[in-house]
Amino acid sequence: MNKVIPINNENISMCQKCGGECCKHKPGLYHPDQILSGSDTTTHDRIKRFHEVLDSGKFIIVDVYDDNEKRHWAIQPRTSLTQGKIAESADGWGVCVNLTNNGCSLNFQERPMECQTLVPDWPNSCHHPIIGDQSVYSYISREWSRYRVVMRIVLDQRWEKYAIKG
Ligand code: SF4
Ligand code: SF4
Repeated sequence: MNKVIPINNENISMCQKCGGECCKHKPGLYHPDQILSGSDTTTHDRIKRFHEVLDSGKFIIVDVYDDNEKRHWAIQPRTSLTQGKIAESADGWGVCVNLTNNGCSLNFQERPMECQTLVPDWPNSCHHPIIGDQSVYSYISREWSRYRVVMRIVLDQRWEKYAIKG
């Protein structure tokens, strides 16, 4: 699969009329290349980067499923429903932390790939294009499978770090 480079298809006036319905329910997924930098080449580098990202308080790890129902872990913005100090959540639903009264606070280049590829067609037809033979959601989910082992380590370390000891 070739790399996907989203074209800016923002429609600010349409999204203002809508009021950000998509952002109020489930933020988009980041592509791993938006989180890791080119210099994060070793397992140690990647673990360190994931911890930095999660410690910023703006991101969470979520369970995602590709079009074949295979489970992966991916990163998306934190939401209004994210609980406590455990940054990882099995449920990424809720209002995106980046949504303001003036729309998304991130510029187009900074937004998650899933947000960048959403085609506004308000009121009822906003949609994602198909990439190859799969949905954008599935494409991004599968891209995260390369980091499965690293993310498992990060999840285990964070659970130990933040678990409430009863
Ligand atoms: S993409 Fe669609 S649902 Fe999302 S804010 Fe724009 S018009 Fe609303
Ligand atoms: S990052 Fe921006 S565009 Fe994406 S869900 Fe959040 S507010 Fe909406």
